Amino acid sequence: MGFLTWVFFILQILLLHGLPISSDSNLSSKDLSEIPKDFLKVAKRVEFFDWMVSIRRKIHMHPELGYEEYETSKLIRHELDKMGIQYKYPVAVTGVIGYIGTGGPPFVALRADMDALPVQEMGEWEHKSKIPGKMHACGHDAHVTMLLGAAKILQEHQEAFKGTIVLVFQPAEEGGGGAKKMVDTGTLDNVKAIFGLHVAPDFPITEVYSRPGPLMAGSGFFEAVISGKGGHAAIPQHSIDPILAASNIVVSLQHLISREADPLDSQVVTVAKLKGGDAFNVIPDSVVIGGTFRTLSKESLMQLRQRIEEVIIGQAAVQRCKATVNFLESEMPFTPPTVNNKGLHQYFQDVAGDMIHISSVKDMQPMMGAEDFSFYQEKIPGYYYHLGMKNETKGKLAYLHSPLFEINEDALPFGAALQASLAARYLFENKPETTPLNREHHDEL
Ligand SMILES: [Zn+2]
Ligand SMILES: [Zn+2]
Repeated sequence: MGFLTWVFFILQILLLHGLPISSDSNLSSKDLSEIPKDFLKVAKRVEFFDWMVSIRRKIHMHPELGYEEYETSKLIRHELDKMGIQYKYPVAVTGVIGYIGTGGPPFVALRADMDALPVQEMGEWEHKSKIPGKMHACGHDAHVTMLLGAAKILQEHQEAFKGTIVLVFQPAEEGGGGAKKMVDTGTLDNVKAIFGLHVAPDFPITEVYSRPGPLMAGSGFFEAVISGKGGHAAIPQHSIDPILAASNIVVSLQHLISREADPLDSQVVTVAKLKGGDAFNVIPDSVVIGGTFRTLSKESLMQLRQRIEEVIIGQAAVQRCKATVNFLESEMPFTPPTVNNKGLHQYFQDVAGDMIHISSVKDMQPMMGAEDFSFYQEKIPGYYYHLGMKNETKGKLAYLHSPLFEINEDALPFGAALQASLAARYLFENKPETTPLNREHHDEL
């Protein structure tokens, strides 16, 4: 955008929309309730929308897997530079943390994940992935775009904020524990609240879905090698059959859910991998099984982990086999359950309700998918929600991780405006508790 267009754009925002943000920040509740509506008007403006669409398509065409998001990160920093937003880089390999406001407390954070998936895009459209075997099939291209959109809206009002909005662009959400790495750097230690979202192809556009307490499951992965003694399939007495042992293990693992877990405490164990033998008449030496387990509390997750190991080793021994169990924590750290802060639930309903009407702010059932936003929530009061994208008139959208997954770009302004509103209102409603830090100390956040 050229300079004159930019000035005109700012004037349009200030004059036509009359945003009720003044530097004294003593806003009435009516003023506060106007912020989300006005931010949405800004995000829906043609120039703004087109800019977001172009960013999203650029990222979509160049998907990068976890901890390899170098180009995505570069694009983010380039856009932040253009907006005059300071940032810290690299954080957790490819992550970027931007700062808007005074540089002092209170700090409120907005988070987007940047990574794509090892999926070959099957949909045909002009901006499909240019990288074979990689695709933004979980919508993280839209998440980055919406956070940049929120940043652009917020930066326009940076003088009005008494406090700092922290923009968190994290790597490796898809099983790589990118959020954990971000938290471990300590850069978010003083943040008072953090908000994150996920696009939802099965919920209608203009609606948001969430709940207080557990929203998504904690998860872990396991792989076990069951070793016996190979031999002739017709003379089993000379062998120790690991296939029989593995079969019993698969069945026994399901009994952990049906007989040991509280029926009201949702849990899942799935054996998704079972490999052993490649001849019709040979008992193999060993079998490998692997899978995932999910729970809605961290205690249940740890209990299930222990029992999975005991059942695999114990059940293998029944068939005279030996077993080793690997929980693969270095590559895929356990993800805790995503548990929404109860106080922030009311706050979220107020802000989202002001933007899209309270009737469009829906409660949802917890789901057993996992989300590493939970690593932030272990340290900081956090709130996670799903942003509807479904528009029946444009046809059904494929689900997350599908090679046919697509984004309804009409949802971009809603995500950008709602994230911006959650951060702005938080600062207006939570005054600094202490003297603001000197600006150059913001890195010590
Ligand atoms: Zn995903
Ligand atoms: Zn995702």
